[in-house]
Amino acid sequence: FDRRIFNFAAGPATLPEEVLKQAADEMLNWRGLGTSVMEISHRSKEFMEVYEEVIQDLRTLMNIPDSYEILLLQGGGLGQNAAIPMNLMPLAKNGPKADFLVTGVWSEKSYKEAQKYGTANLAASSAAEKFNTIPARSTWQLSSDAAYVHYCANETIGGVEFPDVPDVGDIPLVADISSNILSKEMDVNKCAVWFGGAQKNIGPSGVTIVIVRKDLIGHSMGITPTIWDWAVQTNTQSMINTPPTFSIYMAGLGFKWLLKQGGVKAIEKRNQEKAELLYNFLDQSSLYENRVTKEYRSRMNVTFFLKDENLNAEFLAQSNAAGLVALRGHKAAGGMRASIYNAMPIEGVKALVEFMQDFERRA
Ligand code: PMP
Repeated sequence: FDRRIFNFAAGPATLPEEVLKQAADEMLNWRGLGTSVMEISHRSKEFMEVYEEVIQDLRTLMNIPDSYEILLLQGGGLGQNAAIPMNLMPLAKNGPKADFLVTGVWSEKSYKEAQKYGTANLAASSAAEKFNTIPARSTWQLSSDAAYVHYCANETIGGVEFPDVPDVGDIPLVADISSNILSKEMDVNKCAVWFGGAQKNIGPSGVTIVIVRKDLIGHSMGITPTIWDWAVQTNTQSMINTPPTFSIYMAGLGFKWLLKQGGVKAIEKRNQEKAELLYNFLDQSSLYENRVTKEYRSRMNVTFFLKDENLNAEFLAQSNAAGLVALRGHKAAGGMRASIYNAMPIEGVKALVEFMQDFERRA
């Protein structure tokens, strides 16, 4: 390609051009230091300023109250699948235990990982519905003695999203927001823990954001790796070991970009418009279909199938040639997927719809 393409990858995902340009401009000589940001000490005054600003900007963007700690860790969402049970399960009354709402591949992984550390109770599952929906609230089998309930707010592979934070009563709720963090307004007080990697809606991979209610910190199992012990990381400003400084700096540029767009409320409106454009097109098409229950359709990961699957290879080849790349669905789901996170402009979605229309006409 001799230009930037529209990249629908699920993560690492497309980033705003402005952010990439700024990083490029600052690469050789950051803030007049004669070096890049990734070549200086994480404990230097200059880097600590970046860190403090990142924390402050995230607090502003998500409206995170002081009663929550923000940790910037490594190991991704998958790392937290282990860290969360190790840090929280000891809070259960009758031995380590947690409840899981399984609505797709990612919450299923969380559920399985947790089994290593205690009792993981499958409170609800949509596996029998091929993860195309969310089980009705009335069917959930929540335990009275679980330390917490885990759910995945947006299933990246199936394209299933909770429209609202579910109500689980007084039990602390843990939300995997890997693929919808900062994409819409979320009332932070409604969950005890929010976590996700930066590589979809924020910046490059490498940094994992964990937002934890402070009273839940300090109860970890003895076996908890030091780097994932929330108490240790709280006391060391997430720097018990060398943090991913470049990823943190890039996340900071992403936050500034989002603030400039008008913040989460403004981006939410745009995300809604983008998703509607694509779903409205899919719904009237006779070639493509989305299989997710309408009210649970993801605004971030739009999955679709060609009714004639023999056309899949041609669809991918032609879309790719048109500069609309990474539309192949995850192998666990098949079909296609267009990931349209914060940094995907509406022009990208319009171009995709136009291509799909044209492909349908020619099919
Ligand atoms: N949860 C969800 C919803 C995800 O989409 C992903 C990554 N695609 C993960 C967890 C795992 O995150 P990571 O790759 O950062 O470990």
